[in-house]
Amino acid sequence: MDRQVGTVTDNVGPSTWDRVCEEQVERLELERATLSSILDSMADGLVLADADGHLIYWNGRIAELLGTSLPLHVGMPAAEFKHLLSQHIADPEQGLNNLQCSSDELHRRPRLDLRIVGARPLTLQAMQFPIHGPQGEDWGCGLILRDVTEQRQVDQIRASLLAAVSHELRAPLSSIKGFASTLLRPDVSWDVDKQREFLTIIDEESDRLAGLVDELLDTSRLVLGGFKIEPEVLDLAPLLERIVAQARSQAPQHRFALEIAGEPRPVWAEPRRIQQVLHNLVDNAIKYSTPGGEITVRCRPQDDTLVISVTDQGEGIPQEEQSLVFEPFYRGQSPERAQKAGLGLGLTICRGYVEAHGGHIWVTSAPRQGSTFSFSLPVYQPRAARPPAEATGNVDA
Ligand code: ADP
Repeated sequence: MDRQVGTVTDNVGPSTWDRVCEEQVERLELERATLSSILDSMADGLVLADADGHLIYWNGRIAELLGTSLPLHVGMPAAEFKHLLSQHIADPEQGLNNLQCSSDELHRRPRLDLRIVGARPLTLQAMQFPIHGPQGEDWGCGLILRDVTEQRQVDQIRASLLAAVSHELRAPLSSIKGFASTLLRPDVSWDVDKQREFLTIIDEESDRLAGLVDELLDTSRLVLGGFKIEPEVLDLAPLLERIVAQARSQAPQHRFALEIAGEPRPVWAEPRRIQQVLHNLVDNAIKYSTPGGEITVRCRPQDDTLVISVTDQGEGIPQEEQSLVFEPFYRGQSPERAQKAGLGLGLTICRGYVEAHGGHIWVTSAPRQGSTFSFSLPVYQPRAARPPAEATGNVDA
């Protein structure tokens, strides 16, 4: 756009003069309208005050962000604007005292979060800036209000995840440190049995720590898409028998059953990954049900897949949570389940691994009636086209 103002000379006649003036006014009007549309289309709210601290401009976004239009007028003292704003803020004392009304006071250019109350609660970041003329003179100041609600929610989730991860890692670490320090006490000499007992705990807790770190690494590989499966022809029956035998010795107070139905058909899968899926599901069945309960592992053919399921008689999962349990770090609403150790990554990893094999995983459950976690795997088809040898998992973060 040509922003040059034309020069009017003395020898221009009155009608030419009028025409030039009209053109200039039109051009200025157009520029003003363009500028105003641009400022109104900004994602941020904008308020400008002159050097005396009186309002000279505000854009339409201010009203959208506050959910209502404020009775603003040109020349309104900025202190009055602050007062109007304070009626929409959860903690006006805390936030607004730091908002300055004139550029003289803007030496620190504070940024602060304002919590807006109303039908749609928002967190707005307020940013102030001075406005200078061409010679650096004080022309006033501006205030930008930016919607940072989502960003703050993400920050909060991140902080609570970090706290949860640190808490989970700290528990085994504290026990390792405690038992190692006890063994090293110079004033006590432990007999061989005690030494063995303490070393066994250190060994088990180190495994738990390594397991948690593995879960974090596996999840990050699944989320970033950087992991591959190496499938082979796999007969599931011996694997299921081994898993159930291990579970029996790990949780002798639970009862275990294994049911394999139909013709034995091999699947096209990576044994290590499928073993981990089964371990996670059986561990959860033990963890989220009371000792004495029965845990049944089943395997049955269905079309071109084998469906493997793990059923427990635990407290179950309400309908509304059933799709969420596969999401990273989801630990459920029930205080009983949240009390159990865990990061909320086991089922995310199971889903990533199963889907990388071309299968599906799902849960059927009812509160106080137990849960059944099932997953399908494609059966091995020697002549037909097989799934790609290097399928990759992909889990949404
Ligand atoms: P973690 O067990 O570490 O919390 P998971 O991803 O394995 O992580 O499980 C996520 C959540 O799903 C658990 O915190 C729990 O609330 C719920 N859950 C998983 N398995 C079961 C089960 N067999 N019975 C009841 N709730 C379960």
